[in-house]
Amino acid sequence: MPSPKSIALLGATGSIGSSTLKVLRQHPGRFRLGGVAIGSKIDLLLPILREFDVPLAVVFDPAAAEALSRQWSGKVLSGMEGLMEMVADPSIDYLLNGLVGSIGVRPTLEAIRHGKQVGLANKESMVMAGALINAALAEHPESALYPIDSEHSAIFQCLAGRPTQEVDFLQLTASGGPFRERPRAEFAAITKAEALKHPTWVMGEKITIDSATLMNKGLEVIEAHFLFGVDFDRIQVVIHPKSIVHSLVQFRDGSLMAQLGCPDMCVPIQYALSYPERLPLETPRVDLAQVGKLEFFQPDFEKFPCLRLAFEAGTRGGTAPAILNAANEAAVDLFLKDKIAFHQIPGLLEKVLGRASIQEYTTLDEAIAADAWARAMAVEFSEPN
Ligand code: MG
Repeated sequence: MPSPKSIALLGATGSIGSSTLKVLRQHPGRFRLGGVAIGSKIDLLLPILREFDVPLAVVFDPAAAEALSRQWSGKVLSGMEGLMEMVADPSIDYLLNGLVGSIGVRPTLEAIRHGKQVGLANKESMVMAGALINAALAEHPESALYPIDSEHSAIFQCLAGRPTQEVDFLQLTASGGPFRERPRAEFAAITKAEALKHPTWVMGEKITIDSATLMNKGLEVIEAHFLFGVDFDRIQVVIHPKSIVHSLVQFRDGSLMAQLGCPDMCVPIQYALSYPERLPLETPRVDLAQVGKLEFFQPDFEKFPCLRLAFEAGTRGGTAPAILNAANEAAVDLFLKDKIAFHQIPGLLEKVLGRASIQEYTTLDEAIAADAWARAMAVEFSEPN
């Protein structure tokens, strides 16, 4: 057996992180944790460091990093510098990026530039800097990028390496979120507790709100464009409330390929780690006779304008996706802090995009500048004047 793949897990205490740890527990000889990174919750990190005998930890918050180094004898780094140092460390083979938000972009690029393999759950990397990441991948053919988002893993599996000329369109499935059946007229009364209750997936707060507005699907459409090199007019979204079919590829010969499974992030995580091999995994199996009916619906772009905004920003290109993503992060944050109502999120994004001067970008700094501008504008527009 080859020596175990050394993984740097970013976002170890988050929802992708805990699913990754479940996978690693099932294959101790195949993978080891060479490093972990978290924001600040060191009380949740300590048991992980001990269980997996991790040599290196990055705690983003410097005060929490200090506190950890007093309680633990391994190497502790902090901040973005610490993340970059860990990702570039020669002991690390594979970056599993489970960070939430645009903070995940730099580590993704850094890992590719160091020829590492990357399992990408941080969709903002592709949304904000997809063009740069693809350029870095072309420059570093020894590196590789594997999608972890369930939809993109499904498409990756359905494509099975076939060139995009053989594809008519990609079709991403969406659960439709908790408000699929709620009339638009009642959106003004939606509460935070309702928006935080996802019907099929248990995830972090930010992505759960994005699932309720369908912005999550919108960001995934942009992510799919950059991951698979397919134009926006060949990417579709279909609502599929049971989340059993994780996405599909329509090939030009009429074959429609789908990947099915119970909603469990361990499946795409393990595939991204073990590719091209399929390892055993203890996870619930789909019993089609028990499922009975699989339903599909057209998405409602009127009721969920975020989905339309994502297609528009993606088609426009340049910094538009970065601006949309950053404005959305700010808007969701404002919503979670009770500063704006749920139904105000799309209007706020539309206002920021309407005011933006969209540019082509060739450096990450340009994308980050657009991101910072959009955040500030979202906050400014949300304040009563
Ligand atoms: Mg997804």
